[in-house]
Amino acid sequence: MHAELIFTGTELLSGQVLNTHGQFLGQELSALGIEVILHTTVGDDWERMAEVFRQALRRSDIIITTGGLGPTADDLTKETVADVLGLPMVEHEPSLEAIREHFARRGMAMPESIRKQACFPAGARVLPNPKGTAPGALLETDGRVVIILPGPPWELQPMFRDSVAPYLARLAGRGAVSRSRVLKLTGIAESVVQDKIRDLTREENPRIGFLVRPGEVQVRITARAEEEQEAERLVAECTEEVRRRLAGFIFGVDEENLEEVVGQLLADLGVTIAVAESCTGGLISTRLTDVPGSSRYMLGGVVAYDNRLKEQLLGVPREVLERHGAVSEETAVAMAQGVRRLLGADFGLAVTGIAGPTGGTPEKPVGLVYIALSAPDGTCCREFRFPGQRHSVRQGSANAALNLVRLFLMGKNHL
Ligand code: ATP
Repeated sequence: MHAELIFTGTELLSGQVLNTHGQFLGQELSALGIEVILHTTVGDDWERMAEVFRQALRRSDIIITTGGLGPTADDLTKETVADVLGLPMVEHEPSLEAIREHFARRGMAMPESIRKQACFPAGARVLPNPKGTAPGALLETDGRVVIILPGPPWELQPMFRDSVAPYLARLAGRGAVSRSRVLKLTGIAESVVQDKIRDLTREENPRIGFLVRPGEVQVRITARAEEEQEAERLVAECTEEVRRRLAGFIFGVDEENLEEVVGQLLADLGVTIAVAESCTGGLISTRLTDVPGSSRYMLGGVVAYDNRLKEQLLGVPREVLERHGAVSEETAVAMAQGVRRLLGADFGLAVTGIAGPTGGTPEKPVGLVYIALSAPDGTCCREFRFPGQRHSVRQGSANAALNLVRLFLMGKNHL
């Protein structure tokens, strides 16, 4: 069973609005085991929309359109679909009533132009829109399913999850309820993660998907079942197995992020941290202080970009900088010890590296980063080689630094 998506809106073609429905619907449909075979974006133009829709009807089982359900003249989707299918447009009284009430609650009379939002191709099932005035529609025609969804993401997403997903799940022979869990990993490449759970990724239910962020790999486990409890059980079992195979690399679940996890560990132990950053330019301090309540453990940070600051503020000996260079294990260690001493913290975390695109040499290429952690009983340092552009080297460094603290505090790394 395959689907084709038609995104309408001239604003998508002109680049004013980024098409996020493609990603959302792609993820949701894959989780239902429905393959998406084509995306088309078309402007608010009757002829072109009709042509795209006619072609879609010839090749796809499920056709989903987005946008163009508003009250204005350029909102044409339902009318175009009705025209191509040779169906009249009919008014849907409960929708008209809901729209009237929507305006009445705001003390306003319903504008006549909005009446069009309560009209649908004859035979369509109306999909309620609790977040707006434009309901969606679902039509079964000649063995094809046509689903018409609104443009605003905050309207489209709940409508899809509440009304469309259960319908498509039944159509695709899947359970009507879905449950997902995201496991977040760091310090491991996506290819290695895939290798370790390759057999699990061949399963249809639960399904496993991957998402890669700089310095982070996310494993999404989605299960479908008739009952919520059964979907939960399937997700929990699969999560357990993935955990067993990748334990040391998983730092968080679902919405959790690395800075929250590290913050919680520091708070639980009642210890403080100070940060000295060179190539990350304050990223680590920003992330640590993004967490509400971080003043319990985060004392402060120094962005020591210039060697003079590394020497004068953090006390990195000049001989160390001259002999080993600013990007070296020796400098990272001295920075971590220096910031710990300077701010009177239990832990000092330091990062120095070459973020690029310039500044690399054959011995010290772009992406080379040293991260040091100074603790009351000693200092450790790790060397990393991050791939990619400046942005990913910096993000990867910040992640690796926070992860070093996490592993140390969890007793997995020894000085
Ligand atoms: P309205 O009643 O608000 O006019 P509509 O169903 O007619 O809704 P559109 O007019 O096509 O939808 O789009 C409304 C807004 O929704 C757009 O301006 C844009 O901000 C957002 N939108 C539309 N399509 C997409 C998309 N593919 N991805 C992300 N946002 C979108």
